Amino acid sequence: MKKILAKEEIKEVIDILMDLYPDAKAELNFSNPFELLIATILSAQCTDVQVNKTTKGLFKDYKTPEDYLTLTDEELGEKIRSCGFYKTKSKNILSTCRLLIENFNGKIPDTLEELMTLPGVGRKTANVVLSNAFSKPAIAVDTHVFRVSNRIGLADSDNVLDTEKDLMENIDKKMWSKAHHLLIFHGRRICKARKPLCEKCPLTTYCFYFKDN
Ligand code: SF4
Repeated sequence: MKKILAKEEIKEVIDILMDLYPDAKAELNFSNPFELLIATILSAQCTDVQVNKTTKGLFKDYKTPEDYLTLTDEELGEKIRSCGFYKTKSKNILSTCRLLIENFNGKIPDTLEELMTLPGVGRKTANVVLSNAFSKPAIAVDTHVFRVSNRIGLADSDNVLDTEKDLMENIDKKMWSKAHHLLIFHGRRICKARKPLCEKCPLTTYCFYFKDN
């Protein structure tokens, strides 16, 4: 049987996190779905702070898929080098721009299935775009959401897909996007990967990880 808190307790956990992080929101800077898609591709294995530094100039000069396609792989790679894995990211961004033009009229699609046809766009990135750019209910499970939700007992799984399913089953749909941000904020600030700061955490009476350790 899965080791998951009761729904009422999960609601209380979310309420506590809402009090703790009233401003929880996406930390990537963007002003439209296309920019968010590019920023999210760049954010793989990179901090949001670094991505924001890189996109500050990039988004001024390159606003549409057509703009990016004036660059070669190498030229774009140089512009995004500081985000790491720049060769792969550059290839993925340019292939994504091509597909956006060929298949989606240059617009960002707003379904999970369509977004996932784009190179470099996995389930997590697609969910980030759906919830943040299109305000659709979605829970993107990144490394923080995975770790924190499984520690507390909002999910009980060893993989991201089942964690997403657990969260969708146990959290009110209208709270999915907010819960994603709350769990990321908590993971970055208190429930850190290597050494969670449990002494500062208001969730000790709920958290399975805390009770077990
Ligand atoms: S009690 Fe510790 S392990 Fe549990 S959520 Fe808080 S910081 Fe994380």
